[in-house]
Amino acid sequence: MAEDTLFSKIIRREIPADIVYEDELSLAFKDINPQAPVHLLIIPKQAIATVNDVNEDNAHLVGHLYVVASKLASQYGFAKDGYRLVMNCNEDGGQTVYHLHLHLLAGKAMGWPPY
Ligand code: 5GP
Repeated sequence: MAEDTLFSKIIRREIPADIVYEDELSLAFKDINPQAPVHLLIIPKQAIATVNDVNEDNAHLVGHLYVVASKLASQYGFAKDGYRLVMNCNEDGGQTVYHLHLHLLAGKAMGWPPY
């Protein structure tokens, strides 16, 4: 069982967030410290701490995050130009909030590698 994080509090509306999408399985909201002109976080409502905790039982939720990303890309109008999806895992991956989340970054050409 994942810890109660600030993202759980956002799901429960205990702390404010600029929510752009919600369905029964997921929530998407603007990152508080955007790293691109558009920076959204797409999270499962079920608390999963890291990618290391993804398994056969919850993998459909991870797939769902990508479905939502695709919908948002079309809705925001950057599907054709492109965008970046990132999921950081643990310390070396740069993860700071231990509730699984997909970063959706768009609105500019991204560099590579990401360091
Ligand atoms: P991570 O570093 O875990 O991959 O990403 C966590 C993200 O959550 C960061 O990009 C950070 O800016 C964002 N974040 C941290 N606290 C809050 C908050 O209270 N509200 C929102 N909307 N985003 C947050």
